[in-house]
Amino acid sequence: MTMALRFSTYTIGCKLNYSETASIRRTFAEAGLREVPFGEEADVVVVNTCTVTSKADHDTRNIIRRALRVSPRAFVIVTGCAAQLRHDELASIEGVDLIVGTEDKHRLLELAGDLRKVGMARVVVRDLHRRPSFHAAFASEGSGRTRAFLKIQDGCDYRCTYCTVPLARGGSRSADIEATVSGVRNIVRQGFQEIVLTGVNVGDYGKGQGASLADLVRAVIELPGDFRLRISSVEPDLLTDELIELAAKGEKICPHFHLPLQSGSDEILRLMGRRYDTAFFRERIEALKHKLPHTGIWVDVIVGFPGETEKHFEATRTFLEGLPVSALHVFTFSERPGTPAAAYGGHIPDAVKRERNGVLRRLSEGKRATFYRSELGSVRRVLFETGGERGMIEGFTENYIRVAVPQCTASPRTMRRVRLEQIVMGRVLGVVID
Ligand code: SF4
Repeated sequence: MTMALRFSTYTIGCKLNYSETASIRRTFAEAGLREVPFGEEADVVVVNTCTVTSKADHDTRNIIRRALRVSPRAFVIVTGCAAQLRHDELASIEGVDLIVGTEDKHRLLELAGDLRKVGMARVVVRDLHRRPSFHAAFASEGSGRTRAFLKIQDGCDYRCTYCTVPLARGGSRSADIEATVSGVRNIVRQGFQEIVLTGVNVGDYGKGQGASLADLVRAVIELPGDFRLRISSVEPDLLTDELIELAAKGEKICPHFHLPLQSGSDEILRLMGRRYDTAFFRERIEALKHKLPHTGIWVDVIVGFPGETEKHFEATRTFLEGLPVSALHVFTFSERPGTPAAAYGGHIPDAVKRERNGVLRRLSEGKRATFYRSELGSVRRVLFETGGERGMIEGFTENYIRVAVPQCTASPRTMRRVRLEQIVMGRVLGVVID
């Protein structure tokens, strides 16, 4: 009896990459290969890479070398954004057998052929100037069927000056509404109670098809079943009144929005090539809070962009301090080859970047504490996950607050109404009411 070939995967980067790896894993398993955890010896190893920061590049090289140390005879496949943009460098790593770019990520097994190592890497990377086709994908988070990430859109037509994503993933594209709704229906039928719509520029869904994200959301919430929809991230200029209205009306859309601001200085926003200014951003936040007072709003911000003076940074800190948002995701500018910002002068010393990052992280902690306090006494629907510690079980509310209740009062993968009672060491504790 021939032993099934063993395969393992490792993913670096965003939820989109995880959903694509999940599809790759399903394809390999359906072809009869047996999955083993990354780190165990395997016959085939797939590394799905990211290149959004220099740290991601560093991790990519480390993971490939780790795979080869554990499985020196394995057929090693490298795919993802680093494969698309840095294939020459990756092909020089001894032991790598196949490098596959963005356009062909869904055909790894076909391209791998007989999985024989020939001592050098074969590179299958197409240029993305012609709009690539869209390939759907979805992944479930953690063990069990609690939350699913559904890829609804890929690529980006924006040209933010610090970003390599359009270079790595190509132009914006998505499946049509019918196909996407059927994807959601299939996931709901599998028992998932929360679906996170994910992509590169999700707000651009339906571009070129005469459809919009609001159209998709409207169609999805028509589907029967007790499930809820979470939108991963929306560009501020694509957060339409229609979308806000739908979220305000519908029980099925989580009042939780993730908005990339990137800077609170209009001058820096212009240098970044962003499509709004701070006045517009504030107006969108106020529109959200007006329609959905308890909505959770997470905001991305980058510190240390070339040319960011103390005055610019102070403008960002003050702007964020004055916004009714729930928390911040703070990133440090990372110079990316091939982007306009890489050629900008005025680079900020690492020590200053670290200091600014720390200032905004502390601001974020304060905002999160204020948001949690404002929610005490309210009743929210919590989707409980597996795990939990010290006799407690945890899950997220619809407005993205992590809540813990006694383990004996709720079960994993159930959605219960919970009153938020108190905050203990930054952790929200609640009581299940039904
Ligand atoms: S919107 Fe800007 S930052 Fe986001 S993926 Fe597109 S180019 Fe990059």
